[in-house]
Amino acid sequence: MAAARWWRDGLRFECTRCGNCCGGASGSVRVDDAEIAALARRAGLDDAGFRAAFTRPLRGGERSLRERRDGTCVLYDPRRGCTAYADRPRQCRTWPFWRAVVHSPERWAEEAAGCPGMGRGPLHDAASIASALADDGTSGSLAG
Ligand code: SF4
Ligand code: SF4
Repeated sequence: MAAARWWRDGLRFECTRCGNCCGGASGSVRVDDAEIAALARRAGLDDAGFRAAFTRPLRGGERSLRERRDGTCVLYDPRRGCTAYADRPRQCRTWPFWRAVVHSPERWAEEAAGCPGMGRGPLHDAASIASALADDGTSGSLAG
């Protein structure tokens, strides 16, 4: 990644809360134990209850939030947006500063086609981008 720091002058991003990334195509939203505990508290459930009702297993022992039939995240409400925004998982917090997205200008542009917040709003400097990339909450270097 160091050799590919095309983003050394920073990147602009400001979420418009459009919801595109919370619905549509199916995907994993990884949640660790601490995130499950916070989401469970918010939902008034114990950790085991939240885990059973709102998460599903991934390979390697990780867990993802469940999705509805149409691929929408189980925590997304079409009128209110993310119903757990303050406690949303790290993967949601670090978007779009994921290793797989910041990998190249071309990848950034591809993702920006579906995310109107990319390329607008405040400038995120290289240090803050690097910090997000160091633990972006996703599965790997290029897998998203
Ligand atoms: S697609 Fe982008 S702008 Fe829309 S909710 Fe997701 S992060 Fe925000
Ligand atoms: S947790 Fe919230 S921000 Fe993350 S995908 Fe689900 S609805 Fe969207």
